[in-house]
Amino acid sequence: MTDLAAAQKTLDVNAVRRDFPILAETVNGKPLVYLDNGASAQKPVAVLDAMERYYRECHSNVHRGAHTLGDRATAAFEGARETVRRFINAASTRQVIWTRGTTEAINTIANGLADRLQPGDEILVSTMEHHANIVPWQMVAQRTGAKVLPIQVTPQGELDLDALDSLLQSDRARILAVTHVSNVLGTVNPVRELIAKAKAKGVLTVIDGAQAVPHYRPDVQALDCDFYAFSGHKLFGPTGIGVLYGREALLEEMEPFMGGGEMIERVSFERTTWNTLPYKFEAGTPPIAEAVGLGAAIDYVEGLGRNALETAEQALLQRANELVETVPGMTVIGTAKEKVPVLSFKIDGLHPSDIGTLLDQQGIAIRTGHHCAMPLMEFFCVPGTARASFAFYNTLDEVEQFFAALQKIQRLFA
Ligand code: PLP
Repeated sequence: MTDLAAAQKTLDVNAVRRDFPILAETVNGKPLVYLDNGASAQKPVAVLDAMERYYRECHSNVHRGAHTLGDRATAAFEGARETVRRFINAASTRQVIWTRGTTEAINTIANGLADRLQPGDEILVSTMEHHANIVPWQMVAQRTGAKVLPIQVTPQGELDLDALDSLLQSDRARILAVTHVSNVLGTVNPVRELIAKAKAKGVLTVIDGAQAVPHYRPDVQALDCDFYAFSGHKLFGPTGIGVLYGREALLEEMEPFMGGGEMIERVSFERTTWNTLPYKFEAGTPPIAEAVGLGAAIDYVEGLGRNALETAEQALLQRANELVETVPGMTVIGTAKEKVPVLSFKIDGLHPSDIGTLLDQQGIAIRTGHHCAMPLMEFFCVPGTARASFAFYNTLDEVEQFFAALQKIQRLFA
């Protein structure tokens, strides 16, 4: 199917749901309503089959070249890397590095950039970052004497662009590390604009794409970012696999984070040298089946057509927003103009964790707590929130069931 034909398709949500076996589960005697996609998305049969086929027909270690199975495994593994390259429109597979996930990718970048940092240098991260895009920078700052400075967000949960502009006035700003989409608020940050602003000041850009890739196809060349990171499991692929994209010259310059097999060119007690990209950053036996599974997930999602998915998701968000006023005392945190279908909320008189438990009793899965974003919780003066995060396989009926359940909980317990 051409890209255009895929994009013009509309979504047959019932057919799509049949691709995800777990959605037919019952939980506490009720049909599962899975609204915890931001934490981890479910997997289609295409992914499960690809991984099983790999293990049944191809499995061996990769890049050893000694026998046929090794060649099959290597072809499947490197084929998945090419799928990722196409997905993010990287110029070369040398720039596509497998990691365990977004967290490992950002740690690899932060460690690799440490040599560039001097005491007093500034690393800018936003208040809405996941801890995975704060703590690695703090660790590197501790080692180098650099400082991590927060970019404030507005009460609507958007990045404060004036605050960013004034931080970028400093001639000590070196790195801008921001999320493409907020896991708590659903805010879609104007990353292209942010990258352009940073670039104009010679500041390197690191984009956390963990929450963006389930909803958008990032084009790293059009974005012109220096680094982009994401996890497979939020993109309907397996756990244990993620991607680090980087500008080639920077990747060449960076020191690897982990040493061992695969990442070496030559080892001796006198002098050990590193392998070429991307293997320099891939120490040890990689997650082969997981890479294959991620490739299958990307093919599956892209085959559905991104426009169709976005239309379906925005319809879910719109219906959810309409129903908020039917629950007395419910407040949504994060009302940015551009949002993915994520609803973080509180209800007067109810603790978020109680909301989660009571919904679970009705078969509805959401996430509660600080969502690994404590500075953002502090900004909004809440200990945590309840968060419903929708995927394209959720239905309008499920949105209504979710709100009917909230109304009941509010009536009985608030
Ligand atoms: N960044 C964001 C915005 C996230 O939402 C998450 C996970 O929730 C992460 C990073 C970390 O991803 P992982 O745990 O897959 O490494």
